[in-house]
Parts: sequence; C-alpha cells; structure tokens
Amino acid sequence: MLESIIDLFFPKVCAGCKSLINTNEYVVCTTCRHELPLTNHHLNPENEAFKKFYGRIPVEYVSAFLYFHKKGMVQELIHNLKYKGGQEIGTFLGEWYATDLENCQIMKEIDAIIPVPLHKKRMKERGYNQVTNFGLALSTGFKIPLNDTLLVRKVYSKTQSKKNLLGRIDGIESVFDVDFKEEDSNKHYLLIDDVLTTGATLEACSKALLKIPGIKISIVCMAMAHS
Ligand SMILES: [Zn+2]
Repeated sequence: MLESIIDLFFPKVCAGCKSLINTNEYVVCTTCRHELPLTNHHLNPENEAFKKFYGRIPVEYVSAFLYFHKKGMVQELIHNLKYKGGQEIGTFLGEWYATDLENCQIMKEIDAIIPVPLHKKRMKERGYNQVTNFGLALSTGFKIPLNDTLLVRKVYSKTQSKKNLLGRIDGIESVFDVDFKEEDSNKHYLLIDDVLTTGATLEACSKALLKIPGIKISIVCMAMAHS
C-alpha cells in the first residue's frame, strides 16, 4: 500500500533509458534488459579481459559482465550507480552475474570477495563504495564473505576523470596497501571493480594483495571498456 503511494508520487524510471518501469520490473526496463551488451566472458576463461593482465600480474581468472561503450547504456548505468546514488544498480548487476557465474569452477575456490577500495575521504563524500552492492550480491549468491578491510586505499586522488584521461595516475603502485594477518595467507581472493579500462587500478590492487604470502587472485568487473 505505502509502496504504491510512493510509486504514485515518485514513479520509478529505468536506470538505462529513463522511461517509466512497471512494478514487475527491477532497475531497468525489459527493453534495456534485452539490449544490455553481455560479454559472455564466463564462457571462455581465455577471454580478452583475462588477456589484459598477461605479463603484468598472476591472475587465475578474469571476467567482466558487460561491455562499456561511450554514451552507451552501460555508461548511463555506471554513472547513475557512481554519482546519482543508484546503489540498486550494483545489486541488479551482481544478482544477474551470480547466475551467469554459477557453473564457473573458479567461484567454488574463492575465499573472499574484495572490492577495490575508495579512500576514506572519497567514501565520506559519496557515502558508499559503488562496488559494494555488486560484491554483496555475489557474496550472497555464492556464500562467500565480502572483505572490505584487508585492502586499503592510502592516497586520495582529487579527480577521477584525470585518471581516466591519462589511463593511470602517477605512482599508482603506492596508492593501495594491505592490512593483513597470518590467517589471510594462502587464500584465493576475488577482486571486484566497476569498469575495467587499462587495468592499472586492478594491477596496483593485486600487487598490494600479493604482499600476503601464498595467495591467488581472480578478478570480476561489472563492465569492460570496449570500442
Ligand atoms: Zn530502459
């Protein structure tokens, strides 16, 4: 009852195309849902996202759920997720991707899910880490704990866009660090992020994590930049 009154005054719109969505639709409308550019990386372990890390860091598995195109629907979704408080978008993408990854053997080996961390100052500004809900949906789907304290971002980078423009920020290697105990050793960690572009951030996160003895790393992203 209350929900339908709220809907009357604040009708829900599709996070992809802004058209009104029906009560049986969640986050995006049926049309957008069918138009989402799926990568199907999970069907091919030797996929393009995995190959991005060749010769850079040792990774067991890498996949991205969607293709990210400039001015495309996925850009709109990620923008709403990051800057417009659209946290349910992360849940939507995570729940869907969890069903895609269900037959993926590697998911049975993961000990913890680790979101790429925000600096605590950025966290305060935004109020949330845009990757958390995506991670929580995977965490629920696979019954794997989410760990958002092991990996920390030490450096506050003023503009995110500057980083995207240059592909990497200076000294990104020293941006992340780990705060680990002996029991964190010999685990397989799943690093998660929003958009995979150059991979510089994930590479830096992985290098920090690799300070922990005997660990393995896999990576899952919501999307991957595609031209
Ligand atoms: Zn739509």
